[in-house]
This record gives sequence, C-alpha cells and structure tokens, in this order.
Amino acid sequence: MRTVTLNNGVEMPVLGFGVYQIPPEQTERAVGDALAAGYRSLDTAAAYGNEEAVGRAIRASGIPREELFVTTKLWVSDTGEDRTRRAFETSLRKLGLDHLDLYLIHQPYGDVYGSWRAMEALHRQGLTRAIGVSNFHGDRLVDLIDHNEVTPAVNQVETHPFHQRTADQELMRGRGVQIESWGPFAEGRNGLFTHPELGKIAAAHGKSVAQVVLRWLVQRDVVVIPKSVRAERMAENLDVFDFELTADQMTAIATLDTGASVFFDHRDPAMVSRLGNATLDS
Ligand code: NAP
Repeated sequence: MRTVTLNNGVEMPVLGFGVYQIPPEQTERAVGDALAAGYRSLDTAAAYGNEEAVGRAIRASGIPREELFVTTKLWVSDTGEDRTRRAFETSLRKLGLDHLDLYLIHQPYGDVYGSWRAMEALHRQGLTRAIGVSNFHGDRLVDLIDHNEVTPAVNQVETHPFHQRTADQELMRGRGVQIESWGPFAEGRNGLFTHPELGKIAAAHGKSVAQVVLRWLVQRDVVVIPKSVRAERMAENLDVFDFELTADQMTAIATLDTGASVFFDHRDPAMVSRLGNATLDS
C-alpha cells in the first residue's frame, strides 16, 4: 500500500477503511472482511459507537499490530484537558489496543485548546503516534497551529468531486498538514455513482466511478477512507493503483466542484450548537 509521510515522519496508508454508520453488530464482520481484502488502515470514532467491534475484528484477524494504522476521534462532549485524557483511555480500552496511530479532534467545537494540550502529552508519551483534527476550516487550523507546540499531522475534512477543497489543501500543504478525505463518494449524493462525466472517464479506463473518484483523490495526494459493508466493493475500492487519470481527465473532474458541502457547513451556528451539544450514548 502506498503511504504518505506525516509531518512527524510517521507513514500513513493513502487508502484506508471508514466505519461511520456501520451498526456495531455489523462492524466486526465488515472490518474483518476489510482486513481480509487487504486494508490496513481503519478509521473509527468514539461517536460511531463501534470501537469495541473494530477491536474485536483486529484481534480476530491475527494481523500484527505494527502492520495496522488505527485512527479514532474525540467527541465534543469530551473536549478539555482532563476529559480528553479519560476519553482517550476509554477509546484505547474499547479498541483493546495499547496505543493509537492517529487521534483526531472530531469537531472544531468545545475546548479544543485544552484537548490539544492533552493530545500533545499523549503523543509525547508515545500513546499515539500522531495527533490531528477533523472538520477544521483554515482559520481554526491556523489559529491552533500558531498557538501550540505540535502542528496537527492530519486534517480530515469532507472532500469529493462536488467539494474538492483545493485551496484548503494548499493551505494545509503550506503548514505541513496532511489532508484526509471523509465522504469520498459524497455518500452517493448528487448522483455521484451515475454521474455522466465520471462514468465517461470510468469507461475509458475499464474502471468503476467509485474507482475513478478514489484514484482522483490519491492522485491529488489526498488520503482516503471509503466505507462499504460489502466485500466486493471493499476489494473494488482498494483496486485503484493500476491506472492513472490523464491531465485532461483531472481537469474535467475539477469542473464538478461546487465549492460547498453536500451535507452541512461546519460554520453554520445552528450546526455548531446541534453537534456541540450532542452527547455520546455510552
Ligand atoms: P462514503 O465513503 O463517501 O460513501 C459510503 C457509501 O458509498 C455507502 O452507502 C456505500 O454503500 C457506498 N459505496 C461504497 N463503495 C461503493 C462502490 N464501490 N460502489 C457503489 N457504492 C459504494 O461515506 P462515509 O462513510 O461518510 O465516508 C467515509 C469515512 O469517512 C467514514 O466511514 C468515516 O470513517 C469517515 N467520516 C468522517 C467524518 C468526520 O466528521 N470526520 C464524517 C463522515 C465520515 P455500502 O456500504 O452499501 O457498500
């Protein structure tokens, strides 16, 4: 698997497996299938409610820990220095691991500065090989970088053909932050899987639209973590390293950018309040 080198030298697979919206009772099977298909990077979150099932699948796979790259995320209700430490320990226990590869602040809300200090300490202690953020717009990212010791290794943000984040990626590149795409398929919105332009490019390569989208992202040096509960799609989504999009095809995909989220704007005050006050089930 191709890797990217994070700003602290850690190697991260450019393509991994996301488990958002996989019900806990399906997660162990899905992650087991993904590991059998060849995925070695897994992306979960405390808020997904399936860390324990991810941990069971890891143990059942028998894959040596050092071959895996495991990411989880801190929820808003656990922000702040002390709460972050406790939430991290809870996630580790649920996953059944003794360290993480990447720990992310899930949303740019709450006491993210207190959380970041706790995460810097966890990183110094070797309990997580890298720390980063998610859903941070450029202003929040730069402020966090400028007023703390450790620069986030990763910013995981919505990135797909309808919301391409090229300017955000440039900013991140300039600051040494790796962009990671969530929702690479826009969860199928805007008719992504049947989009005529993407379909034309897919046909030219004998590939699927999903493969073209993932290829377009990795060709832009964007880390991707597509989700699927189906083994055949897991294999399809991994199989994107044997073809290359031409400059014309990259340009054609660039025209699909709307510059806006297909879900919601993380700066919308109503969403800040809704997500900021959402608590975890357990
Ligand atoms: P996504 O990967 O864009 O789309 C998943 C959808 O695409 C599912 O409905 C899946 O259906 C379908 N699909 C997958 N492969 C396909 C293929 N080859 N052909 C046709 N359909 C296919 O959506 P996502 O799960 O929201 O994003 C990926 C990961 O990013 C998440 O799992 C999570 O780890 C992370 N994420 C993070 C945040 C954040 O705030 N940080 C937010 C959202 C997501 P089936 O499962 O039925 O195959």
